[in-house]
Amino acid sequence: MKKTESEYYPPVENLLDLIYEHYTENNPVEKNTVAGKAAKTKEKELEEWLSYMAETPTMNEELTAYIEKEQKELTGEFCRGCGYCMPCPAGIMINQCARMSLMLRRAPSKAWLTPQMQAEMKKIEVCLHCNQCMKKCPYELNTPELLKKNYEDYKKVLAG
Ligand code: SF4
Ligand code: SF4
Repeated sequence: MKKTESEYYPPVENLLDLIYEHYTENNPVEKNTVAGKAAKTKEKELEEWLSYMAETPTMNEELTAYIEKEQKELTGEFCRGCGYCMPCPAGIMINQCARMSLMLRRAPSKAWLTPQMQAEMKKIEVCLHCNQCMKKCPYELNTPELLKKNYEDYKKVLAG
């Protein structure tokens, strides 16, 4: 029977370096385009993550407070954007509109405030309250209510 040689597995840091090199070499985007800027942000995020392999951050009051704030925001009644509740007979883009408040605060807000998105949000006004979405939501959310809340908040943000 053939003896199996033990395989060499490079440390995780090296693998991440390889992924990073592969990613940057295969994505030569122009720096000043929207895609280029987005790629640059991703690159920075990846660099930040990689730096934690060498120097693991230690828990302090600031980090604890940040984690607590994030936990609060990301637990409970919020839409995960999965889209299992769709299609909507009133044509509401539920998986985006029901999580608009989060998107406005956790992603660059400009793209969510365009006339096109405003029109999508306005469709919430014609919700039929048929509750089809609610029955299909795997997180058992009260989707029509969530849409209403997000729309109210959206209007406030638009009004400044
Ligand atoms: S309750 Fe409103 S949002 Fe939900 S499926 Fe019916 S019309 Fe669409
Ligand atoms: S309301 Fe529920 S099913 Fe619909 S997108 Fe959000 S989490 Fe998914």
